[in-house]
Amino acid sequence: GISSESSSTPAFTVVMFGDPGVGKTALAGIFAGATDSLDIDSEMFVEEVCERTVLVDGESATVTLVDSCNSLGEARSRVSSVDAFLLVYSITDRASFERAAELRIQIRQTHAHANTPIILVGNKCDLVRCREVPISQARVCAVVFDCKLVETSALMQHNVWLLFDGVVRQLRLHGNSS
Ligand code: GDP
Repeated sequence: GISSESSSTPAFTVVMFGDPGVGKTALAGIFAGATDSLDIDSEMFVEEVCERTVLVDGESATVTLVDSCNSLGEARSRVSSVDAFLLVYSITDRASFERAAELRIQIRQTHAHANTPIILVGNKCDLVRCREVPISQARVCAVVFDCKLVETSALMQHNVWLLFDGVVRQLRLHGNSS
């Protein structure tokens, strides 16, 4: 259809959590527009926050992506409000999956808004032979935790935009832009 100029672009803050090494910086680099996802100039991702206006389904949205490492406290110190959480683990690292589950519990305990989207992100899905977390188990976990599941590969740039576009779509459904 014909896209009409919208009067104001909604803005969303999306926070990424996960153990070191799971691929948050690589995912953020793709979001930020790095041509080679695994060769990111650290200066590009100043203070681990990247704001970008993206076009999803013909409509723009401004997304601020925050790499918040490993704690909710750290996220709080960087952004005033969070519209969506990405819990990133590596499918090759069971401990990182368990950490994502712990973070899910923390969010439930401390984050009041029950309909804040939470997405479980199983990164490094290209490393099939090193897989420690079966997708079936991740699916069960996602149902229990009432969140979506996406397996991504920052290396292969697989499902990465499906993830980011999906977050924007979910946020529009909830209508909770900040
Ligand atoms: P962070 O600590 O969570 O920010 O993780 P990084 O983005 O720094 O990635 C940690 C390591 O995993 C780096 O050596 C990356 O090149 C590698 N890596 C990140 N994503 C992927 C992926 O999807 N597949 C593979 N094979 N390696 C990845």
